[in-house]
Amino acid sequence: MDKIVIVVPCYNEQEVLRQFYAKLSNVLRDLHDCSFSCLFVDDGSTDDTLQILRELSAGDPNVHYRSLSRNFGKESAMLAGLDAAEGDAVILMDADLQHPPERIPEMISWWRKGYDDVCMKRTDRSDETVFKRTMTTLFYRILQAVSRCEIQRNVGDFRLLDRRCVAALRLMRENQRFTKGLFTWIGFRKKELSFHVQPRAAGKTTWNYFALYNLAVEGLTSFTTAPLRMTTFLGLAVSLLAISYMFIVLINALLYGDPVAGYPTLMTVMLFLGGVQLLSLGIMGEYLSRVFMESKQRPIYLVAEADGKKILYTPSDPLERQIASSWEEGGRSDET
Ligand code: UDP
Ligand code: MG
Repeated sequence: MDKIVIVVPCYNEQEVLRQFYAKLSNVLRDLHDCSFSCLFVDDGSTDDTLQILRELSAGDPNVHYRSLSRNFGKESAMLAGLDAAEGDAVILMDADLQHPPERIPEMISWWRKGYDDVCMKRTDRSDETVFKRTMTTLFYRILQAVSRCEIQRNVGDFRLLDRRCVAALRLMRENQRFTKGLFTWIGFRKKELSFHVQPRAAGKTTWNYFALYNLAVEGLTSFTTAPLRMTTFLGLAVSLLAISYMFIVLINALLYGDPVAGYPTLMTVMLFLGGVQLLSLGIMGEYLSRVFMESKQRPIYLVAEADGKKILYTPSDPLERQIASSWEEGGRSDET
């Protein structure tokens, strides 16, 4: 029988967790040809999320949880889930019921037909503001134009992954994670299904425009070095323009005795060049900061508690992960 693990990152979801669990169990109860387990990842919540997870897992042998030592962000929490999920397939979904559990049977049936990555594509974004939608479209356009990988549009983290895809994702231990891009990068046979994003059942979203901006920069810088090349071209273009302009000014002054308007021209050119230089420096800085962050090779997350046991493991690479899981199996994990 196929074993399917449902990985759910949760951050301050006390208001929806029980409702989510009830709804999910309802759907899974009717599916008899697979065995399911739920793996919640508490991403350092500051409310009662962890307590609720402890209770859920105590009451249901198929519910497991990992609790991270602080809030590491959804991308890291998802990796923590993928690292710990041992199943023939893994389904990633949000805890806030925006991803309808009713679609799980359909996802499984496509997986059985031979697709490795069944992703759910949101059909409309009408719940979002016009500004957010425009920015998203723009972001996808730019990303598409500059990167070689075809990033899927409007496809989020709600998806079913074959165990091979999970293994592939585990291999990528970058700290600055843009999981959406990683899903594309790993390849495998993909199937897109569409779904309506439900409104959040309760609680509130942790996303804001600043987080979105960060994600967009993350997406661009982690997938392409095109902005760096762009600065080179920009520099080249500006230099060419400056040379041509120099000739125009010289000819005007020498041949026609045209008095050159000094201050405005100088100001414009100086400010323009200053802007271009700062922009280029900023772009270089973005990449440099990523090199800096990655070079520290810190673990991507720390697990502080797992299924009632207070443990610490830092699965920074797949080998350590194996060691960590063999520790758990060997029953040594009770040690703090
Ligand atoms: N989440 C998380 N860590 C965070 C932020 C969010 O694990 O730092 C989880 C959250 O609990 C939810 C999912 O990621 O299950 C999606 O978050 P949210 O609903 O806030 O984002 P949105 O749906 O608005 O994109
Ligand atoms: Mg949500």
